[in-house]
Amino acid sequence: MKEKVKAYIESIKDELITLSHNIHANPEIAFTEYKSSAFIVDVLKNHGFEVEYPYANVETAFKATKKGKADGPKIAILAEYDALPEIGHACGHNVIATCSTGAFLAVSEIIDNYDGEVSIIGTPAEEAGGGKIHILNNGGFDGFEYALMMHPSSGKKGLVNRGGRAATSVTVEFFGKAVHSSAPAHGINALNAMIKLFNNIDMMRPTFHPQNNVNGIIVNGGSAANAIPDYTKALFSLRAETLIELKKLAECVKKCAANAADFVGAKFEVHVGDMYAERYPNLPMCLAFKDNCEELGMPMDVAKPGGMYGSSDIGNVSIKMPAIHDYIPLCDDGIPSHNRAYTEQTDKPRADEICLLGAKAIAMTVIDILEKPEFREEIYKYFNEQIPEEYKE
Ligand SMILES: [Zn+2]
Ligand SMILES: [Zn+2]
Repeated sequence: MKEKVKAYIESIKDELITLSHNIHANPEIAFTEYKSSAFIVDVLKNHGFEVEYPYANVETAFKATKKGKADGPKIAILAEYDALPEIGHACGHNVIATCSTGAFLAVSEIIDNYDGEVSIIGTPAEEAGGGKIHILNNGGFDGFEYALMMHPSSGKKGLVNRGGRAATSVTVEFFGKAVHSSAPAHGINALNAMIKLFNNIDMMRPTFHPQNNVNGIIVNGGSAANAIPDYTKALFSLRAETLIELKKLAECVKKCAANAADFVGAKFEVHVGDMYAERYPNLPMCLAFKDNCEELGMPMDVAKPGGMYGSSDIGNVSIKMPAIHDYIPLCDDGIPSHNRAYTEQTDKPRADEICLLGAKAIAMTVIDILEKPEFREEIYKYFNEQIPEEYKE
């Protein structure tokens, strides 16, 4: 069956690479991925699939499913396709979308040999907005038992089992009273409250767990130097080892803001964004993916747990079901993602090859799940031990 899915992906490679290039050429950010989602949905429809689009009350999300010969494991292959503001597909989500589409189409060709079913779920707004969190909250992952996706990286080797930290964004606004700068005592300086907020956070920083971090920028610090600012606004990015720690960190920022407002007599508002959970990669599934990638000629490393990792909404999915989000390089080391130089790599011939390799590796891993009950038991034994009790309903 693995040979069949590999051959099938080769047979549709022009269509897949065109899909990757179309998404790359039309970068769209969080929840505005109308063209990108439509490109994928069109490919699925051309292959005869009925597509639920929009899906789970998310306009740019979609789902298509192919059932096997009887009930069995329910497997979701996740496609991301959002870009970054101004710098386009600097995270290579066009490659993710293509790998997942290719894998879904290939598994669909052979699934009538197995009990179970496979779906592709289009999950928008990974970079901002937490699309998967919305789909989860709206029941779009209900009933699914496994989730698989890949992510492009750079370097010579791929990487499985990498974790990710919990993350959120916090917006803080201060409202003061504007007066002429010649008589500051008559005003309320919203910028002073902002500076105090940054100092308060720095004051608390030594108490943060080493994995926890708060980084902020002031996006509105006043408009004229000869006026006392009556309005200031800052954005903060918060990361923590776990969702539980992250909630405490957000509370800490709120307290720092309340204290700063109180200190200068300003009013304040705090808005906490979606909470991206830390990631729990399923090691047995990761190792199967590694074997499949290596069979396809891509050497892979296994990550050590922990590390100053970034964050993704796959974390929220990984708490609900065994999930993988493993890395395959599409360019040389030294070209980091979220950089315009990476955008230039994500539609090059090497990236196109990774679209096919990633599709094959995901499809082969899905076959491992469909084929081997003992592998499914191993996945779930690991999952049940790995997920902290606090997260189990
Ligand atoms: Zn990214
Ligand atoms: Zn990404």
